Amino acid sequence: MRENLSETSIKILYWDNLLCNIEFNMSNEIPESFKNLKIIDPDEKIVYCKKCVISNQRPRVHFNEDGICGQCLYAKYKQTKIDWDKREKELESLCDKFRSRDGSWDVIVPASGGKDSSYVAYILKEKFDMHPLTVTWASAVPTDVGSQNLYNFIQSGYDNILVSPNGKIHSKLSKLTFTEYGENFLPFSYGQVHVPLHIAVKFKIPLIMYGENGELEYGGSLKNYNKPQLDVFGHDYVLEKFAPSSNPTDPNRWQNNGFSDKDLVFYMPPPVQDLKDVGIQEHYYSYYEDWTPEKHYEIAKKHFKFLPNPAGRSEGTYTDFASLDDKTDGFHYYLMFIKFGIGRATSDAAHQIRQNMITRDEGVDLVLKYDGEYPSFYEKEFLNYMKMDKTVLNQIIDKFRRSLIWKKDGENWNLRQQVSKL
Ligand SMILES: [Zn+2]
Repeated sequence: MRENLSETSIKILYWDNLLCNIEFNMSNEIPESFKNLKIIDPDEKIVYCKKCVISNQRPRVHFNEDGICGQCLYAKYKQTKIDWDKREKELESLCDKFRSRDGSWDVIVPASGGKDSSYVAYILKEKFDMHPLTVTWASAVPTDVGSQNLYNFIQSGYDNILVSPNGKIHSKLSKLTFTEYGENFLPFSYGQVHVPLHIAVKFKIPLIMYGENGELEYGGSLKNYNKPQLDVFGHDYVLEKFAPSSNPTDPNRWQNNGFSDKDLVFYMPPPVQDLKDVGIQEHYYSYYEDWTPEKHYEIAKKHFKFLPNPAGRSEGTYTDFASLDDKTDGFHYYLMFIKFGIGRATSDAAHQIRQNMITRDEGVDLVLKYDGEYPSFYEKEFLNYMKMDKTVLNQIIDKFRRSLIWKKDGENWNLRQQVSKL
């Protein structure tokens, strides 16, 4: 096991979005505004988008010459250039192709019981007459509200398979990746993308419908701005889903830490030949409809008795309706803040600015108020789960502070720079 990570390897471990792409394939069809986007070297300086609040520290975010990030450009493109009626017809054709005639399952929807996946399953079932099998990869330490939301969703008339990892193995893996990469969610993330594939192979259901393309919506290359699906059989598909091929977090490496092939089944994809035999296709719902979490929240409340965070807003941000199901996720967001100087409120504000729900100035105020708040609410449960004491936890947190982002004043760590109004 390595003692320290280089800053380069730290930077790619930002798992807010799971599905990333490869190189931007320049062609004449690419909108003018997407051309000449560049990554600003995150080791050199910190630069904030002039339209939203994201910074160049977020891995793979590109900027244009005016200092506007690719995701803001993509948001504008969605609002002005995409013919959503046409996209809806495309979804209809896709459903026509896969819809079963006998009521058997014809699409897999990876679902946590959260507002977004519930919405996707709901629309596919109610509007497009599909027969979804929802698949849930269990939380490491479920919250009461997350369990209740999943239960309410299932009770509303949805088939569901809950896949729970071996608790001991998942806890050990979470500790391993938290210690090595500052990311306790890594085992969860791998399972989240691979478990639906295992179920698809098992039940021979070729169509899988994911929610949003995180790379386009939250940060990363715009290469697949007009592609509905992942290239399941493309080169090195699995690693590309997470990070460039130099990815140091490949679960294959976990075997070196005493985990067997059997221990790692759900963290790894099924054999490629099995995927081919079933003819697996993975689509993003966000290609077919403008992705609006706030709308999904309204539908989930109305049809699934979806409950927001009973504590009010979630720690580290100002929203109360996202990522509610796992007691360990506060440290996932907190370490993101430690590594990149931008946290959960930045992600939420950036998205809402692009949706024209709040102004940039309002976003800046929210970031300054909430970003980087320490996740104390479930700290005890987190430490129990990780079998770790607070001294070790603090050592790990400090290990991931980069000098470009942090400075130490006496006993206190302070950010060198934060987003500001223009
Ligand atoms: Zn932006």
